[in-house]
Amino acid sequence: MLRPGRLKGPVYASMSRLVMKFGGTSVGDVDRIARVARIVASEARRGRGLAVVVSAMAGETDRLVGLARGAGGQGGNEALSGAGFDDEYDVVVSAGEQVTTGLLALALRRLGLKARSWQNWQIPFRTDAAHARARVADFDTTELGGSIDEGVIAVAPGFQGITVGNRITTLGRGGSDTSAVALAAALKAERCDIYTDVDGVYTTDPRIVSRARRLDKISYEEMLEMASLGAKVLQTRSVELAFAQRVPVRVLSSFVEPGAPNPGTLVCAEDQIVEKHIVSGIAYSRDEAKITLLGVANSISAEANIFGRLADAGVNVDMIVQTEARHEGRRNIVFTCPDRDAPLAAETIESQREKVGVDEIHVRRDVAKVSVIGIGMRSQVGVARTMFEALAQKGINIEAIATSEIKISVLIDAAYTELAVRALHTAYGLDAA
Ligand code: ASP
Ligand code: MG
Repeated sequence: MLRPGRLKGPVYASMSRLVMKFGGTSVGDVDRIARVARIVASEARRGRGLAVVVSAMAGETDRLVGLARGAGGQGGNEALSGAGFDDEYDVVVSAGEQVTTGLLALALRRLGLKARSWQNWQIPFRTDAAHARARVADFDTTELGGSIDEGVIAVAPGFQGITVGNRITTLGRGGSDTSAVALAAALKAERCDIYTDVDGVYTTDPRIVSRARRLDKISYEEMLEMASLGAKVLQTRSVELAFAQRVPVRVLSSFVEPGAPNPGTLVCAEDQIVEKHIVSGIAYSRDEAKITLLGVANSISAEANIFGRLADAGVNVDMIVQTEARHEGRRNIVFTCPDRDAPLAAETIESQREKVGVDEIHVRRDVAKVSVIGIGMRSQVGVARTMFEALAQKGINIEAIATSEIKISVLIDAAYTELAVRALHTAYGLDAA
């Protein structure tokens, strides 16, 4: 993991630098790449040194993953579940980005700009050796930075890196965001601009709430909650890295005419946000399951046994609620996990049932988690009350609650997800005029 202050590179950049990142749909064909080149050209006129990080053309990484699997390669989640990871898998699935770096460099040159591609081994962009889910390590950008400062636009591939042993790695799906932020940190760039198919971060999903608003700014911590709760604008890891390295990240549209207003949303430190909202956004996730354990025998080690085995099995447990059971000497435990893990979770507990002493196991998969997020919550009372009142008014039953300093999440019947999100969006005054 990249740690603050451990990045080598010039302490004082000789000119101000910007990193721009374009995802798969933005570089989906050569016409779109030509448009990206025009956006980069219009930025270049402002006189900053530029590094551009690109994803593979839309669909390309999926195709390569299919090929690698067909040939027997293991990667991604397979690697996580302990099947072992394969360094050759990364060789195959990383190939898409090399093509887009070359295509964009060509398109930039056609516009008369100085540009060149930099593959990871040429930088070198270092990661650890955890194939298919590698983490960025410290790396030296002296040469890359020097070339940028001479006015040559650097085009680098996202999603991948190289180990100290010079083997190719990938950072996990959607990893180009993380590549861009890491490069921005290493180059001490002023900002990392992530161009995507939406024009910013919204107060909630605009497909559900037509009056959702684009936020001008959002703090790293709020964005982390939004990202991990299902607002899939940025890869969660990229936000963690931006937070740790204090890289301001701007999310903006790649489909706006080059040069036209495109403010996007700035993800930044809390102290850069003057107008703090109590609640900045409402997130939801339907990928939830609720497991209820009734009549768990009271013992000091019951939770350790249950959740220890679940962790061993790779089940990612989220909310946990424990209550006294009606029978003396027993308690009830409710927890949630991603929906796809529900069968595994139930099996795991079934196998511990005798040992732990559990009367009944119930699994419900038609549940959703709805969360309100905002740094202003730290210093405000009554935020939870507003939430509970709004849901009660719509007759929505709350099945579990979890809170953090800047978030309140409730578990509800999945059928009411949209109703809940809309009600909360209105209750916290987030609806656009
Ligand atoms: N091309 C890679 C993927 O599809 C990385 C990315 O687009 O961020 O996952
Ligand atoms: Mg993406």
